[in-house]
Amino acid sequence: MITIALSKGRIFQETAPLLEAAGIRANDDPEKSRKLIISTNRPDVRLLILRATDVPTYVEHGAADVGIAGRDVLIEHGGANIYQPLDLGIARCQMMVAAHAAFDYTRAVRPGGRLRVATKYTRIASDYFAGLGMHIDLIKLYGSMELAPLVQLSEVIVDLVSSGATLKANSLVSVAHIMDISSMLIVNQAALKLKRKEIQPLIDTFARTVESLNANT
Ligand code: ATP
Ligand code: MG
Repeated sequence: MITIALSKGRIFQETAPLLEAAGIRANDDPEKSRKLIISTNRPDVRLLILRATDVPTYVEHGAADVGIAGRDVLIEHGGANIYQPLDLGIARCQMMVAAHAAFDYTRAVRPGGRLRVATKYTRIASDYFAGLGMHIDLIKLYGSMELAPLVQLSEVIVDLVSSGATLKANSLVSVAHIMDISSMLIVNQAALKLKRKEIQPLIDTFARTVESLNANT
C-alpha cells in the first residue's frame, strides 16, 4: 500500500493530472466528500486529505509514504528526515515582502535598521531579514496578512503572491522578492527503502509527466 498525503484546493487540483498520468484516480472528490482517507482506482494506493501545513508532519513520521507540499510549507516545517526528490512545478507563486504603497521601504532597509514584520512564514522572514543585517519584530499571523500594514500592526508583511490582486485591493505593493515557490514531491526516507519497488516507479512517472508538461509550456 502507498499512502499519499496532500491538501485539497489548488494542490489537489494541480496534482490530479499527475496522478492520472500514473494511472491513479481518486474514488471521491475531496472538495465534496468529508472523508479524510480517499481510496483510488488502484487498491494499493490511497490518499490522505490534510491541511497543507500538516503534510510534511505525516510524511516525516511515516503515516504517509509520499506527500505533496509547497516549498514554503517545507521550509517552515524544517524538512528533517524528508526526502525531496522532485519539484512538481505546480502551485507556483512568489514569496514577497509587501508594504503600504506610501511606505518608504528603500529607506527602511539598511543594516542595523528595525522593522515590524507580520507573517505566517516566520522562518523564511527571519532568515531573509537576518541576511540583510536587519533587526525585526516578528508578528506571527495565521491569515489575512494584508490587513496588518493597514492598521499599523506592522510596516511590512511577508506573504505569497501570485496575481497581486489581493495586495492591490488593499493598497499594498510588493517591495522585495524573497524566493520562487512551487510544490515538491516528498517521500519518507524509510518508506523509500522498504517500498522502493512501489514508490520509485511513482517518482519516475511524476518526473516524466512534469518534464513533458514543462516542454509544452
Ligand atoms: P489555507 O488557505 O487553508 O489557510 P494554505 O494557504 O496553507 O491553507 P493553500 O491555500 O491550499 O493552503 O496553499 C497550498 C500551497 O499552495 C501553499 O503552501 C503554497 O505553496 C501554494 N500557494 C499558496 N497561495 C498560492 C497562490 N496564490 N498561487 C499559487 N500557489 C499558491
Ligand atoms: Mg491559502
